[in-house]
Amino acid sequence: MRASTYRTVRTRPAERAFDPLGDWADVGTPTPPDTVTMSVMPAPPTSAGPTEVVDLLIVGAGPAGCAAALRALQLRPDASVVLLDAADFPRDKACGDGIAPHGLDVLRALGVPDAVAGYAPVDRMRLRTPGGAEVATPCPRANHVVPRKVFDARLVAAARARGALLLRARVRSVLGGGHPGEAVVVNGDLRARVVVGADGANSTTRRALGIGPNPPGALAIAVRGYADAPRADRPPEQLIDMTDEGWPAYAWSFPIGDGRANIGYGMLRSKLTALYGGAGGRTVLHATLARMLPDQPAHPGTLRAHHLPLSTWRPRQPDGPVLLAGDAASLINPLTGEGIYYALLSGSLAGEAAVTALPARAGAAYRDALERELGRHLRHTALLAGLAGRRRTLMDSAVRAARHRTELYDNLLEIGLGRGTIPTGSLARLAARRLVAGRR
Ligand SMILES: Cc1cc2nc3c(=O)[nH]c(=O)nc-3n(C[C@H](O)[C@H](O)[C@H](O)COP(=O)(O)OP(=O)(O)OC[C@H]3O[C@@H](n4cnc5c(N)ncnc54)[C@H](O)[C@@H]3O)c2cc1C
Repeated sequence: MRASTYRTVRTRPAERAFDPLGDWADVGTPTPPDTVTMSVMPAPPTSAGPTEVVDLLIVGAGPAGCAAALRALQLRPDASVVLLDAADFPRDKACGDGIAPHGLDVLRALGVPDAVAGYAPVDRMRLRTPGGAEVATPCPRANHVVPRKVFDARLVAAARARGALLLRARVRSVLGGGHPGEAVVVNGDLRARVVVGADGANSTTRRALGIGPNPPGALAIAVRGYADAPRADRPPEQLIDMTDEGWPAYAWSFPIGDGRANIGYGMLRSKLTALYGGAGGRTVLHATLARMLPDQPAHPGTLRAHHLPLSTWRPRQPDGPVLLAGDAASLINPLTGEGIYYALLSGSLAGEAAVTALPARAGAAYRDALERELGRHLRHTALLAGLAGRRRTLMDSAVRAARHRTELYDNLLEIGLGRGTIPTGSLARLAARRLVAGRR
């Protein structure tokens, strides 16, 4: 890949949202003052200072970025690893805060067993479909609900304790690395052998690779807030309440265990535009959430929206030394909006490729590893999302059947939260349906 392939990307306020639709002032990562401020947060001593060529520079210290740092340092404790983030930690992140057990498996393998310590597991989930189907049963493995302000700060602390250097800076440019042996230059003065772009849904690193945002049909938007947890005489459960309006769309209520619940509502960007036009999107999301969860009004000041780049449209990872992980690589499950597990897994694979492959081949090695781990799952979720998007009755039937068939319910959860795939027999039937639907 030639050096000129990576471009300088300047993040002007007008570019924060993917497209100028209505009043999305709170979409995207908060932009600090428009100067390149860089403050070094106190961190354990590392072998690398910010002026030399570091082995790995990671843009974004969310789950994907921290997993990349943890894996790289797990494999090569002497590697120089820098984590760059525009925000100070602890910081909030618009999210449902639902941590699937699969994400905890990845963290355990990375040597971080305690990221959800102190938060009670929630082992029941209630699914409601627009056609009136409902299932509420224990999950085979419990989920956790941990505010991202806490969860992400714990991951950052773990990465720093392992030796990553945390710097505060908004990345504006990623250049070079196009020739073997040539360093990648970030913000004009930070040089690295490999860069992992883990900078979320509005990734600057991704734009620097010349890759555009997801199209509106593969981009969801969701608002989240905090509310009082429902007072019920049954054990706490995660509620997912799907709605016809703007299908596929759903509201959620996830109890945290401290008397509060994370509540939210999300839908496809294309549906929002088609149904409600170009303005007032925020009002639509807030009003729909309030209508769907009337007993759980959001606490003032807690509603915040953000984009979700779905894995139904994923950029091709280039071969070279700039890798994309997590939301920057569009790795959010299109059926559930779950992204933390995929961010942790992809970040870990990216961190591994960064310190085990030659920089010029790091992207190729990472791309192969992702395909091995998630390729089949991603193809199956894309197939299901396409079918369910066209015919919501598919979801009604699946949930109705899941009431009586535990293995089907468990399989649905694996597909929605982990890396589950469609069993072979069902796959043939679904593929035939897609063929028929495509002909109509
Ligand atoms: C409303 C909503 C609800 C969701 N609910 C769930 C859920 O319940 N469970 C689940 O698993 N997933 C959920 N998701 C998806 C989940 O939030 C993401 O998939 C996950 O955060 C991806 O992690 P990441 O590390 O890739 O990116 P992020 O968590 O977004 O982290 C990116 C980091 O990069 C930093 N950054 C960005 N740009 C720059 C820059 N230019 N320079 C330096 N730093 C930068 C940011 O400050 C941030 O710290 C939800 C998403 C939304 C929007």
